[in-house]
Amino acid sequence: MNADSTTSDITRADCLARDAQDPLAPLRERFDLPEGLIYLDGNSLGARPRAALARAHEVVAREWGQDLIRSWNTAGWFDMPKRLGDRLAPLIGAGPGEVAVTDTTSLNLFKALAAAIRIQAEGPHAARRTIVTERSNFPTDIYMAEGLAGWLERGYRVRLADSVEELPGAIDDDCAVVMLTHVNYRTGYQHDMAALTRHAHERGALIVWDLAHSAGAVPLDLGGAEADFAVGCTYKYLNAGPGAPAFIWVPQRHQAQFQHPLTGWWSHAKPFAMAHGFSPVDGIGRALCGTQPVVSLSLVECGLEVFEETSMEAIRAKSLALTDLFIELVESTCAAHPLGLVTPRAHARRGSQVSFTHPHGYAVMAALIARGVIGDYREPEIMRFGFTPLYTRFADVWDAVAILKDILDREDYDVAATRGAVT
Ligand SMILES: *Cc1c(COP(=O)(O)O)cnc(C)c1O
Repeated sequence: MNADSTTSDITRADCLARDAQDPLAPLRERFDLPEGLIYLDGNSLGARPRAALARAHEVVAREWGQDLIRSWNTAGWFDMPKRLGDRLAPLIGAGPGEVAVTDTTSLNLFKALAAAIRIQAEGPHAARRTIVTERSNFPTDIYMAEGLAGWLERGYRVRLADSVEELPGAIDDDCAVVMLTHVNYRTGYQHDMAALTRHAHERGALIVWDLAHSAGAVPLDLGGAEADFAVGCTYKYLNAGPGAPAFIWVPQRHQAQFQHPLTGWWSHAKPFAMAHGFSPVDGIGRALCGTQPVVSLSLVECGLEVFEETSMEAIRAKSLALTDLFIELVESTCAAHPLGLVTPRAHARRGSQVSFTHPHGYAVMAALIARGVIGDYREPEIMRFGFTPLYTRFADVWDAVAILKDILDREDYDVAATRGAVT
């Protein structure tokens, strides 16, 4: 072992000094994180905003408990999907009336894909039958696309591109819709949204973006990119709480044509007319389906309001500084170990996470978690570390790497560790 390859010039004091100058540092107080825990999994489940506890109490005790059914009107429950959508919109480059917070990412993807296919089926490219995505996409996205294609008659199919290089060519003259996840959940690779949207349009395809690992993590400009549809999670970087409803973006220019098969009463023009026959409401409301999970939906607001105290540019600058620091410290201090960086070094191609492979990745991650450094593990061999600039400190990065180095140097992990249902 070469001593030079296992030390770094960066000290913990340097990291503390960076925290002292960090303009986002005060926002950490807006979250309730357990003492002594280093939480690097905000890309899977964001930390709890302090305000969420009082909000949950208010919704359950007063709005539900005291005001009961009147709260649909008096507490604004009915309008919440759209109100929250408008609040989320600036984070993704969307306009007012273009976003709804509703259902799950999987369901919203289904709606967006179905609507895109229908628009194509009624236009000059009606003969096209392919949905193009990547084999490395998050499985539920592929499952949903395959599920939809299988239900549609007339031979729709999903084509999986095996690499970023293969993707542009896969968007051929049979491609009706391109469905891409902007930041890859495993590798942290970030696509060029504007360029791929342009390319899809040049080839006559529509494009649906999944922003699960992008919203609240990187600056986004759906409108500027002239994308067609987008969906994403709120429980990851937007800190809305476990299982919180997802979002869907339908730009004004597509709203009149936006139709999907999940025609529930919440997307009806007059839900309480209890009319025979479905007639969709105008606007983003037609992206809804049925009654919303009000308690969970209410907490989305607590996550979003923290973002209003900063900008995505400030968040991005700190995110890149944190991920650069993590990469540099791991590579300099753990160089004797078989770690492989999977995440792009190029800033433009990187999300807000860093992934390293290790032959015993699962066991090493389990050891880290046991020592209070929470990241997660994704097959195959990938240890994933998410960085949330709203609450992650530079000193946290330094401490996490010191613990990782200690675990690896001492081989202090159990390769036979049994796995929980959720990794
Ligand atoms: C997290 C994630 C999902 C989750 O979908 P749910 O329907 O909320 O379970 C979907 N797609 C991607 C790309 C994700 O990262």
